[in-house]
Amino acid sequence: TQVLVCTSTACRSSGGEQLFKALRREIKNLGLDVRVVKTGCYGFCGLGSVAVVHPGAVLYCNIDENGAGNIARTHLRDGRLVQNLLYRSMNGEGNRNFLHEIPFFEKQQRVVLDNSGLIDPEDINEYIARDGYFALAEVLRSRAGPADVVDAVRRSGLRGRGGAGFPTGEKWFFAAAQEGPEKYIICNADEGDPGAFMDRSILEGNPHAVLEGMLIAGYAVGAQEGYVYVRAEYPLAVKRLEIAIRQAQKLGLLGKGILGSDFDFDVDIALGAGAFVCGEETALLRSAMGFRGEPRVRPPYPVEKGLYDKPTIINNVETLANVPAIIRNGPEWFAAMGTEGSKGTKIFSLAGQIKNTGLIEVPMGISLADIVYDIGAGPPPGRRIKAVQTGGPSGGAVPAELLDVPVDYESLQAVGTIMGSGGLIVLDNTDCMVDLAKFYMQFAAHESCGACTLCRVGVVHVVDILERITQGEGTLDDLQELEELAYDVRDASLCGLGQTAANPVLSTMKYFWDEYLAHVRDRR
Ligand code: SF4
Repeated sequence: TQVLVCTSTACRSSGGEQLFKALRREIKNLGLDVRVVKTGCYGFCGLGSVAVVHPGAVLYCNIDENGAGNIARTHLRDGRLVQNLLYRSMNGEGNRNFLHEIPFFEKQQRVVLDNSGLIDPEDINEYIARDGYFALAEVLRSRAGPADVVDAVRRSGLRGRGGAGFPTGEKWFFAAAQEGPEKYIICNADEGDPGAFMDRSILEGNPHAVLEGMLIAGYAVGAQEGYVYVRAEYPLAVKRLEIAIRQAQKLGLLGKGILGSDFDFDVDIALGAGAFVCGEETALLRSAMGFRGEPRVRPPYPVEKGLYDKPTIINNVETLANVPAIIRNGPEWFAAMGTEGSKGTKIFSLAGQIKNTGLIEVPMGISLADIVYDIGAGPPPGRRIKAVQTGGPSGGAVPAELLDVPVDYESLQAVGTIMGSGGLIVLDNTDCMVDLAKFYMQFAAHESCGACTLCRVGVVHVVDILERITQGEGTLDDLQELEELAYDVRDASLCGLGQTAANPVLSTMKYFWDEYLAHVRDRR
């Protein structure tokens, strides 16, 4: 018998670590032969602390220390379910108690999150026991050369999960074609969108998948060093990553002559200081080299001139974590998931006015409506969904009447938003869309690095106008100025932060113009 306890950051904030200790204590006191394992996130972040008892995969939610004693005595010793902690007691969903029966998981497809919630992320042997590092071994031992690995990633159709959606195989191809012995792989873990926690959860729940992805990328393009650029505000992710790197080094999976081959590759961690702009790759590079994190003009692109002016691949956490499964199962397997232009799955952090908040992984092409109503179980009682904000501060709001839009890069763009890195915030009839736009613009004003005038000054001016409007002191002229300024900021900014900063304003003006009008004084 095993009890898997989520100890990711979300469950920790509701006592996951204490639950883990309490369960161990109670089980020891009762003299039971039960293993208690710390795992990563199951996805039910709104119902923490969460634990799953095997065999049976019985899901218990909202467990406190008393609950730990109850589970130990009633379930583990006496073989009866603890009724008041069962999932159905929390959600009123019939007699669904077991993980595989729960609607939250029905439309999900876990590829990157396959180990999350199942293995102890601090134990490399558990990762290896679930085919971990098999893809790396395959690559090193087969006759397939680096070019074949690049080709496999190209054929899989994997696109960057950090937001831009650039084809990963193409990026690797360009990097592999660069001359010279020194190249770098950087994992961009500088997740900063409000409401987004996908990368943090992957690093906390399945850190070796990211390292294995970096190793395969290193082999494919001829790099010997890699860095994970991660926010210092993610202490648990950093700790688990450090443990993972140490364990991989100890087993000869990082370092010189990996698995007896002539391939050398090692990984280090570079801590970011929490500036949102450092998620932009040229700013990230400067920050990683110890300079102020300011974007620079491209070209040259990092694949030509990146870290220390050497060819550098920068891939997002989720992108890299997809790579081992692509190599293990083949590019055709991956390409069979998703849509024509957007292959595979995507992880979202589901937040806002919705019953099931948490971390989800869905096949590309699923509709936003399926995510909101089937996985998220819809709005709280008596409310109705008004919109879904995708793409965080760089994205836009999709109104309720367009929620049938498929979740893929092109379809989301066609309705005025972006896939982004995976933040998904649900708004209902109690939310004001002008307030939403103001919130994101305040965020952009705070995070602007200040190098471009329109981003530095224009965004602040946009915030001032929105402030006036939300206080009922705006005019129709303000609305006109707001729109013009939003376009100016978009067109005259150097980097993605400024170019997309006004998207929340433009998309809410497009779909919720009546709410803007309702706020202004001289409405006619
Ligand atoms: Fe800095 Fe904004 Fe210019 Fe980007 S657009 S370089 S964040 S001032």
